[in-house]
Amino acid sequence: MKSHRAWIGLGSNLDDPRQHIEQALEEIDCLPLTCRLNASRCYASRPLGPQDQPDFINAVALIDTLLSPLALLDQLQALEQRHRRVRARHWGPRTLDLDLLLFDDSVLDLPRLSVPHPELTRRAFVVVPLLELTPELMLPDGRHLMGLADTLDTTGLAPLLPPA
Ligand code: ATP
Ligand code: CA
Ligand code: CA
Repeated sequence: MKSHRAWIGLGSNLDDPRQHIEQALEEIDCLPLTCRLNASRCYASRPLGPQDQPDFINAVALIDTLLSPLALLDQLQALEQRHRRVRARHWGPRTLDLDLLLFDDSVLDLPRLSVPHPELTRRAFVVVPLLELTPELMLPDGRHLMGLADTLDTTGLAPLLPPA
């Protein structure tokens, strides 16, 4: 079976967000047929949409997996559930959000799954940690991610120090 490289965006802004992110990084490493190759630092970022919620902690993980994209999405959604994520309102606060950002150079437009993640190139809290992990990263359409980074608003985005 062929293994795949996938990049996962993590976000949390409830109930000790950093702990949720650090724990989720460990859990991603334990997913079936999957190992985590690398992870970015954690970043603090301002929320999208509703502003009456805490700032987010974000990170990106790079994995090697034998899972299909949909099987991986199932696993990521099950992990969100283990973190007791409740979907109350769009872009509202959450204990854990796991987005499948890229899967090899696949382009998918399925009812449950769009890859690359449609908002990827517009979000500094995704692009900056992605570039930290993979500076040479190229999108499936051939664009270099590095070339897009300069246009993004990075207000409020700040790397955190590693845990003590
Ligand atoms: P956004 O997708 O804008 O970051 P969100 O993460 O808050 O918003 P969710 O409520 O977590 O959105 O997800 C809504 C649905 O998006 C999920 O049920 C999932 O099926 C679908 N989805 C489509 N593409 C992806 C992807 N690349 N990664 C994760 N979920 C996806
Ligand atoms: Ca998201
Ligand atoms: Ca999501």
